[in-house]
Amino acid sequence: MIRDGVIRSISPLSRKPPRVFAAPAFFDAHCHFLWMGMERIGIDLSGCDGAGSLLEAVAGRAGRQDEGIVRGEKWDESDWSDPRLPSLPELDSVTGDRPVMLRRVCGHSALVNTPMLRLVEALVPGTKTLGWPEGALLVEGPVLTAYELFPPTPGEMRLAVSLAQEAVFAAGVTGISTTESAGSIQTVADAAHPELSISVSVHSNDPLLWPDASRTGRFAVYGAKIFLDGGLGASTAAVEGSYADGSEASPAMDDAALGRLLEEAARRRLVPVVHAIGAEALRQLDRVSAQFSGRAPGTIRVEHAEQLEPAWPGGWRAGTHQFSMQPNFVRRWQQPGGMYDQRLGSAAARRLNPFSLLLRGGFKLGFGSDGMPFGPLWGLSGAVSHPEPEFSIPMETALDAYSLEAALISGFEDLAAPLSVGRRADLVLLDSDPGQGKPDSTRVLFTIAGGRAVYRDACLPEGSADGF
Ligand SMILES: [Zn+2]
Repeated sequence: MIRDGVIRSISPLSRKPPRVFAAPAFFDAHCHFLWMGMERIGIDLSGCDGAGSLLEAVAGRAGRQDEGIVRGEKWDESDWSDPRLPSLPELDSVTGDRPVMLRRVCGHSALVNTPMLRLVEALVPGTKTLGWPEGALLVEGPVLTAYELFPPTPGEMRLAVSLAQEAVFAAGVTGISTTESAGSIQTVADAAHPELSISVSVHSNDPLLWPDASRTGRFAVYGAKIFLDGGLGASTAAVEGSYADGSEASPAMDDAALGRLLEEAARRRLVPVVHAIGAEALRQLDRVSAQFSGRAPGTIRVEHAEQLEPAWPGGWRAGTHQFSMQPNFVRRWQQPGGMYDQRLGSAAARRLNPFSLLLRGGFKLGFGSDGMPFGPLWGLSGAVSHPEPEFSIPMETALDAYSLEAALISGFEDLAAPLSVGRRADLVLLDSDPGQGKPDSTRVLFTIAGGRAVYRDACLPEGSADGF
């Protein structure tokens, strides 16, 4: 029984089939909310299986839109049988003079055509694609800030928010931690559903543009996003040693610059939300945050921490460092022959994402999806069936990390409690217990946020979930 958005009493739902499984609603600790919506507006390239089909998908769309940048998202050449990317002349030949930007699934690299490259060069002088004039790939910098440099129109932003939150609720999620540019925070706050809990980490090229931490209703400006390195897919994560192809990557800034950002975050009362994937970036964060104890904010959030093991145990402190990790990466990239293998070789690849290390050390660990794909159910198997069994964690712990713990490390303590009388009524009804059987075939039937039904599966007869 729910009244005024709070659970007043709990009793069994029904003794008759169909049985349902009720759980605290999920919380996705790492996503890109506006980008999720923009993906639904732009060209979805996730189904492409090579350069040819990507060019076809873009050719079909580039001619149809009248103005603005043609945006495409989510291609992933690590899934293609031939990972060759289209060249700049090939892309130009199907796109004409319309600027086109096609972001890789990781968001750290993008294919651009010549008109788009000219636009980027005008704002970020000296930018060139890798292997220019043949190559079409841009990495990091302007790709990470694409929505700041080339903002969507206000109408596109509002549409993106509404499409994204539909997807959020359909996944049984009622809370998210999202990275947004300083310029889009207000649009997200204004357009989002009032019962969707949103913890924003602000990302800006200029930290002086970070806002102060704030909280209005379910909307919190909580963190300051700091990128210490790139991604493994783009070979820009600052990993220990070199990549399988001999290339190397180092952290994006020196210790002093990181220290200044931690100080600026403290001044704004923002939690530093530090993207650090490779062991070198993680060691740097560990080292610099130790120098700042007492001056930096009480909490530092570490995002991804994929290559944590070589940087462990270091000086990490459970009272300071909280971790946000993505078990769906294990399923997606950590299988034999997968992207991690291709980039690092199998020995190093198998040791990535060592979830159990953190729990054994008493650290807070929340899970998120990074939108690949959004939501917890697809990724759960990566947490409970890690290729290195010692790094797996029990299903119940994984479910907590995708709900209560994710909320906790995102500043929503009121959601960090099991279902009980007096708790805010954010819950999800599933058609089966994800701990029994295959979690990714578990279906979300009903999502409730603050006592309000925000998603009902089409298979549920009208009125069947009344009485909440
Ligand atoms: Zn991300």
